[in-house]
Amino acid sequence: MTSKYPDKITVGNPPRPFRKFLQEDEIQRAVLKTADEIHERYRSKNPVFVGVLTGCFMYMADIVRATNLPCTVDFIKLSSYRDGMESGRIKLIKDIDIEIKDRHVILVDDIVDTGNSWDFLRGYLMVRQPASMSMAACFRKPKSIQAGIAVDFISIDLPDEFVVGYGLDYAGAGRHLPDLYVLDEPINS
Ligand code: 5GP
Ligand code: MG
Repeated sequence: MTSKYPDKITVGNPPRPFRKFLQEDEIQRAVLKTADEIHERYRSKNPVFVGVLTGCFMYMADIVRATNLPCTVDFIKLSSYRDGMESGRIKLIKDIDIEIKDRHVILVDDIVDTGNSWDFLRGYLMVRQPASMSMAACFRKPKSIQAGIAVDFISIDLPDEFVVGYGLDYAGAGRHLPDLYVLDEPINS
């Protein structure tokens, strides 16, 4: 598939340079594979997909459609954990609206970096006694693997680079891009 978007773009204001890292069709292939795995594991379980806003929105829509199972969908939001590219403290700013006691919950996030958000959310939601809880993330960076954080479903492993596109932003911009881009300059320049 040829992309609508060029290999080199700028994102944000002031603009930062990004270069294409994954094409839309490569991402979509990996997402469908993950959806098949979820389908197999959650057949007849009527799972609850809980998306972590805002970055999850594209992956969530693709996963829920392709998983093709009766399910419930809800969202949770953490504080703007990253302002631009810097990480900070985790705080909940929007809770889920539904009861998850005795339900099979699948937390859906855009990317796992340190794994701190996942750790926090698992602790936060386990108190409500779901029947089970797993996590699906579209992307994963190496830090969480080094820290021994287990994620149940991962579509694509990435190098330790800052990325935008497919739902992920840089300072609020770039979420609409169907391809994935990496920052094309040193992070702290
Ligand atoms: P963690 O808590 O695993 O360190 O970070 C998770 C959150 O940080 C992700 O859900 C995502 O919102 C944000 N994040 C981590 N790496 C990146 C990245 O490369 N690009 C963008 N745009 N957000 C990221
Ligand atoms: Mg996120």
